[in-house]
Amino acid sequence: MKAETIQRSLEDSGLRCTAQRYAVMAFLMEHKGHPTAAEIFEGVNRLDPRSSRATTYNNLRDLVKAGLVSEVAVEGRAGRFDAKGTRHHHFICDRCGSVEDMDWYNVPKPASRSLGKRVVRECQLIFRGLCTKCAARRASR
Ligand SMILES: [Zn+2]
Ligand SMILES: [Zn+2]
Repeated sequence: MKAETIQRSLEDSGLRCTAQRYAVMAFLMEHKGHPTAAEIFEGVNRLDPRSSRATTYNNLRDLVKAGLVSEVAVEGRAGRFDAKGTRHHHFICDRCGSVEDMDWYNVPKPASRSLGKRVVRECQLIFRGLCTKCAARRASR
């Protein structure tokens, strides 16, 4: 991902391209393993120790609000973040907590009568269960 592409996507979403915001976005583009906010802060801080934790977290929140980054809510654990490159669903392992990407497919919209006046933008699924590693471990026991 080129620097100007990141800059343009920030500006297209109405966000100023500050050095810190850029760093958060660039980190997420490079680290596809759904890092937590703390991991993002550590990574960004390693490259540029000037950004504070609060700035990093605020930038992260701005990026989520602007739709450039999505937050995967993981029950009972810290939320994980994902730069939205291509749309995908998620799989979360009950045992080790790993978050994996699943191929995208469209989820049929519910009947309009159950939607009422809500306007649905998209529907993302979270699959839960045992990841490949944990399932293998259980089978071998
Ligand atoms: Zn697992
Ligand atoms: Zn993902």
